[in-house]
Amino acid sequence: MTQPTKYVYDFSEGDKDQRDLLGGKGANLAEMANLGLPVPPGFVISTEACRAYLSAGKEPDGLVDEMSEHLDSLERAMGKQLGQPDDPLLVSVRSGAKFSMPGMMETVLNVGLNDESVAGLARKADGDERFAFDSYRRLLAMFGSTVLGVDPAAFHEALEDLKKERKTENDLDLDVDDLRELVATYKKQIKDHTGDDFPQEPRTQLDLAVRAVFDSWNTERAVLYRRQERIPGDLGTAVSVVSMVFGNGGMDSGTGVAFTRDPASGAQGVWGDYLQNAQGEDVVAGIRNTVPLADLEDIDKDSYDELMHIMQKLEEHYQDLCDIEFTVERGKLWMLQTRVGKRTAEAAFRIACQLVDQGLIDMDEAVRRVTGDQLTQLMFPRFDSDADRELIAKGMNASPGAAVGKAVFDSSTAVAWAERGDDVILVRRETNPDDLSGMVAARAILTSRGGKTSHAAVVARGMGRTCVCGAESLDVDVAQKQFVSRGGVTVSEGDVISIDGTTGEVFADEVPVVDSLVVRHFEGEDEVESDELVDAVQRVMAHADDARRLEVRANADTPDDAARARRFGARGIGLCRTEHMFLGKRKSLVEALIVAESSEEQEDALAELLPMQRDDLVGILESMDGLPVTIRLIDPPLHEFLPDLTELSVEVAIEDDRGDKSRRHHKLLGAVKRLHEQNPMLGLRGVRLGIVIPGLFAMQARAILEATAARLEAGGDPQPEIMIPLVATVQELELVKTDITRVAKEIEEEHGLDLSFKVGTMIELPRAVMASGEIAEQAEFFSYGTNDLTQMTWGFSRDDVEASFFSTYLEKGIFGVSPFESLDRDGVGQLIRHSVEKGRAARPDLHLGICGEHGGDPDSIHFFDEVGLDYVSCSPFRVPVARLEAGRAALMGRASD
Ligand code: ADP
Ligand code: MG
Ligand code: MG
Repeated sequence: MTQPTKYVYDFSEGDKDQRDLLGGKGANLAEMANLGLPVPPGFVISTEACRAYLSAGKEPDGLVDEMSEHLDSLERAMGKQLGQPDDPLLVSVRSGAKFSMPGMMETVLNVGLNDESVAGLARKADGDERFAFDSYRRLLAMFGSTVLGVDPAAFHEALEDLKKERKTENDLDLDVDDLRELVATYKKQIKDHTGDDFPQEPRTQLDLAVRAVFDSWNTERAVLYRRQERIPGDLGTAVSVVSMVFGNGGMDSGTGVAFTRDPASGAQGVWGDYLQNAQGEDVVAGIRNTVPLADLEDIDKDSYDELMHIMQKLEEHYQDLCDIEFTVERGKLWMLQTRVGKRTAEAAFRIACQLVDQGLIDMDEAVRRVTGDQLTQLMFPRFDSDADRELIAKGMNASPGAAVGKAVFDSSTAVAWAERGDDVILVRRETNPDDLSGMVAARAILTSRGGKTSHAAVVARGMGRTCVCGAESLDVDVAQKQFVSRGGVTVSEGDVISIDGTTGEVFADEVPVVDSLVVRHFEGEDEVESDELVDAVQRVMAHADDARRLEVRANADTPDDAARARRFGARGIGLCRTEHMFLGKRKSLVEALIVAESSEEQEDALAELLPMQRDDLVGILESMDGLPVTIRLIDPPLHEFLPDLTELSVEVAIEDDRGDKSRRHHKLLGAVKRLHEQNPMLGLRGVRLGIVIPGLFAMQARAILEATAARLEAGGDPQPEIMIPLVATVQELELVKTDITRVAKEIEEEHGLDLSFKVGTMIELPRAVMASGEIAEQAEFFSYGTNDLTQMTWGFSRDDVEASFFSTYLEKGIFGVSPFESLDRDGVGQLIRHSVEKGRAARPDLHLGICGEHGGDPDSIHFFDEVGLDYVSCSPFRVPVARLEAGRAALMGRASD
């Protein structure tokens, strides 16, 4: 007989490495309980149970019984039963997936309370009826909205109305009679909405709440969040059932959140918010003003000291920044949650190095702890502090960056304006999960309430959006779509503001931005060396450079770009596109080449292009002296150099009409018609051009090799690699190589020099992949052109499909991310793998690189490392990111855990 699946785990049965099964929250509760920290007893229902429930639409066999067993032993341990009338055990039913999804799913507190047990709860709390009814109204609101589908706004409004009636803004001013009244109102709202009474039976409440948490995995906002964060949609959530502890039983109780370090800067210290006489979400929901965590020392020194001690223990145990939820129940501290906390990019680098200096982790681990995406964020520009700027408010620096945009006050406007191409800044009093689509669309988020742990701050940091929160001096009026600063500046919808998430400053109008310190460091400016962040980046990069196997080159077409790439750490150029050198003023020369009717005309045009091309290349070879420069012969469809067929036809017709016939225009029109293609991307381009237009590739080879000779004569060390694009068969390559060899001989004789250079090819057609063995015999190197290879493999054109159907494909989950952004490992990746094997088998020292857009994409870089390429090539600005990710790829492979 097969063992039935186990669905429910006691805290003592789990640990922090079981996030897959127990969710992050459950796994870490288990870890803390097993560390001996004060965690209220409970158990966890696994993600496996959730997946089974979601696919079958009902609880899997055995789950209900297993829950009963665990509930029994919890009741025995606590000495009371769920909802027991005279002394009720109450529990929270909490969602928690493998990856944290702040505020996305549901939690219900105080499960087990009913009309009877509310009295028992009061008696047990020294007759504190206010506390008991406060707990009950919270259960009704959370259960009503989460489980029974009542609009949470209805409960919220009833509470606000009552406060207004009592002429107060503080929920603590409501007395027991008020709360009793609120309970009655909530029950009526539930009855009106569902047609049924609120379920009084404790176990029914529990079962329904568990179900609702399972279901919350698939709410619209959770789906949107996962897509944004690239979290797989089929993981499911675990459910933690935890005995309640109460922070809402008086001023000697309270609830709080804390970080072991500042998640914005990485600085060590006491970071967090605390709220007396409050429960659960109150502290982040901004219902009352919280106090800084440091104030807890005065309020309740014992709990504070214990918390500090636990925080240190957690940081040492997790060897990382932890964030924490806790509650104080009448002077007794309880730990309710911890996890390795999200942090800004800046904090990530600083913390990684601080932990190394404290001896908690080594440099290998420090490199694994930061990401290329975080490095990218640090390379964004900052505001110019010397510029004229009008400071209108200062809030908390919740998520760094310098953002300029039009103020908008609601999510739908943010989305609409962003879609039409505006940069927008979403301004709210505070945000909640319904604002997510607006936060995704916005460049930045500004709130007037809430601290560094508020919803806005947490979500913005997670998404890498700039955020200033808690700018309390701003009077935000969402209904009027405007805010007013304390100094009297009014900002209305559409007005441009600038916000600095690194300092928390808010400015009127547009503030000019300057390069980031990290970029200035890469550029070689010495004066930024003393900065702690720059220092951390430098240490991490140096270690990544030591660790990596992949070399990093840049795609660069001009001497300036090449020089910049070199400063950023590129060790050569993986793609120098010669066609860019044909544009601008030189376009007419290309036209002449194409319409030439005799070989003399053709040669004249080529002869004029030659010196220009050669001079460009001299500059690039000079910038990259001593390092390889891969120069690709002309690639794009010729029509890109020619006038538009329709426009030219009209022009010629008008000229004919006037009687001033231009022979040149007629010839050009003939050529444009002759060369017109329905599918230019599949037409006359790449090596095909070189074969069809006599002398074109020979001229290019001559330009490259004359530039090489010139550099040699100037005492340089040029290392050109000539790359043939769009090769499908080895015969094409052979034809072109014959030309190149002939030209090389001529130049060697003319200059009395030995030229050393390589000839290789791009692999960007599926046919070339399959013929990699034969092609390798004629090519000294392959460079995977993953943009074309992706188009040709999927059979869609990048220029057209991203706008037309990709969004539907992304929505339907056919892609997690566009295959042009991140390499499609299962399709295109397998082709590359095949080509690498065939190519290396035919020529063991075949040099392999990649020069598509994917060369700067972290996930793709890890794949290229895995299949054994020698280098990646990416845009100059991405070079540091590629260096870091190449180092991480090497170290991830070596990671012991
Ligand atoms: P989230 O994932 O949104 O943080 P949680 O499951 O952590 O949701 O719960 C929401 C709030 O309720 C948190 O502030 C948490 O600390 C609090 N809470 C959860 N369980 C309990 C409990 N057993 N006793 C007291 N407070 C609890
Ligand atoms: Mg929450
Ligand atoms: Mg929580």
